Amino acid sequence: MSGPLQTQDRHSRSRLFPGIGPEGQEKIRRSSIAIVGVGAVGAAAAEMAVRAGVGRLTLIDRDVVELSNLSRQFLFDERDAEEVAPKAEAAARRLKAIDGGADVRGVVADLDHTNALSLLRDHDVIFDASDNFETRLLASDAARSLGVLSVYAACVGDEGLVAVTRPESPCLRCYLEVLPPAGSGPTCDTAGVVPTLPPTIAGIAMTEGLKAVSGARVSGGVLSLHAWDGAWRSRRLFESASPSPRCPVCADGRYPALEGEGASEVVKLCGRSAVQVAPAARERPDLAALERRLLRVGPVRRSEHLLSAEVENVSLTVFADGRCVVRGTGDPLRARTLYERYIGR
Ligand SMILES: [Zn+2]
Repeated sequence: MSGPLQTQDRHSRSRLFPGIGPEGQEKIRRSSIAIVGVGAVGAAAAEMAVRAGVGRLTLIDRDVVELSNLSRQFLFDERDAEEVAPKAEAAARRLKAIDGGADVRGVVADLDHTNALSLLRDHDVIFDASDNFETRLLASDAARSLGVLSVYAACVGDEGLVAVTRPESPCLRCYLEVLPPAGSGPTCDTAGVVPTLPPTIAGIAMTEGLKAVSGARVSGGVLSLHAWDGAWRSRRLFESASPSPRCPVCADGRYPALEGEGASEVVKLCGRSAVQVAPAARERPDLAALERRLLRVGPVRRSEHLLSAEVENVSLTVFADGRCVVRGTGDPLRARTLYERYIGR
């Protein structure tokens, strides 16, 4: 930045707000936040963080920009979609144009147990805007192991969820202990999403992140919001949750996701344009529930032992033991992305 802009005070309104003030703004400038997943929530959160003056931001995403992202994902445009630009790089480019003084790093990678600690260490907040359960647990375990605040934000349909866990409070695993079986939970790619919801949820979640780095007390717990019926129902869930005696992190001091426990096995099948995604948990999926969800996006056939669906020019075959074979691509990253989009957990 040069010329007259340099002498103006970009963050004067934040300094005027007593909750932040000049000291808080200086702390925000010196802070660093890692954002995992640059989809609708992650991109909006990243833009808010950079505009608010966060000094260093790391964006981690394995995916590329597609036309269907543009209806709700900030930071991306038609050129990014035409160029099939990696989201982490396209987002970093745009953020540097918003604030040339911000240190923004885009990392095109699939966060996994081999790279999580090295990518996430040296940040004050780990902001998880990922789209899948595996990465969620990995980000949470990494935040615990590094002793930093983790903020999780997600949206499906008209529901948004924000979870904030401090190093000393129960971890995300404790909150997520009771979960529906595999294949029964909606994803944005089967249930859709209210397009204005992701930035709303990103704003709530990033507010907690900014509170943390500016030295204010953050609200812990899980917040769930419903957006569409005109009556905004908000619930603070598990507000007084205590650590689960079954949680490997809180009860035993282990970080299973950092050891690769719970990681899917993604294998390219020999000589064919097909990849097998085998979730580690191998819960038996509810094929009937999965069929109902997938019928909304493409043709589905189901038998007692398997289900096969056609989406995005590939076929997904889900077996009763939880394995999924993605035919029509030989790219393991793409196969995993499609699995998370349509099968998920
Ligand atoms: Zn826990």
